[in-house]
Amino acid sequence: MARYTGPVCRLCRREGLKLNLKGERCFSPKCPVEKGSGPPGMRGSKAPSRRKPTEYAMQLREKQKTRRIYGVLERQFRRYYYRAAAVKGITGEYLLQLLERRLDNVVYRMGLAVSRREARQLVRHGHFLVNGRRVDIPSYLVGQDDTIGVHPGSLGSPRLKQLLESAALRVVPGWLEVDVKQARGRVVRLPERQDIDVPVEERMIIERYSR
Ligand code: SF4
Repeated sequence: MARYTGPVCRLCRREGLKLNLKGERCFSPKCPVEKGSGPPGMRGSKAPSRRKPTEYAMQLREKQKTRRIYGVLERQFRRYYYRAAAVKGITGEYLLQLLERRLDNVVYRMGLAVSRREARQLVRHGHFLVNGRRVDIPSYLVGQDDTIGVHPGSLGSPRLKQLLESAALRVVPGWLEVDVKQARGRVVRLPERQDIDVPVEERMIIERYSR
C-alpha cells in the first residue's frame, strides 16, 4: 500500500498542530511547531488569516489531519469511511475504531515504536507476529483477543531492545495490555471513542463525505 514519502513536519505546520510524526524529534525544541513556524509556503508569516474558514474548509482540515495522524492516503481513507458508513451505529466513531485497529497503530500504542511511521516500517520489515504468525501489512486490522508479539528473530535487534526498554514506561490505552518481558501484547477489547485521544472532530469528516 502506498504511503506519503514527503517531508512530514510540513504536515504538522499545515494543520498548526503537533501530529508527532517524527518520534523523538517531536519532543525536542527542534520541532518546527514548537518554534512557532507557520503554514508551509508562508515563511516569515505567522499571522493567521483574518478570513473565517468556511464549513467546507473546516471539514477538509479535520479529514486531512486524521489521515495524516494515521498515515493513510486518501483512497484508503475513503475506503475506511465506506466501511464505517455501512455499519449501523455512529459512523465517525466506527471510522476512528477502524483506524485504531490498524496493526501499525497498535504497535505504536503498545509503545513498541516512537511514532506510527516507525511502527509502519517495523511491521513492513516483518518484526511482528499476530496470533503467532508473521504479519507485515501495516493496515492489517487486529480484533479482540488477538495477540501481537515481537518476532523471536527480531529480539536481538538493538532498536527493538531499546524500544522494549522504553515501552515499560509508556502508558498503554485500556483496550490493550502489554507484557514487556514477553515482548507481546493483547487486544483486551475493541477501542471505544473515549480510548482514542486523537484531537479530531470525526463528525466533520462524516459531514464532508456525505455531502
Ligand atoms: Fe510534527 Fe514532529 Fe515535525 Fe514537530 S517534529 S513538526 S511534531 S513531525
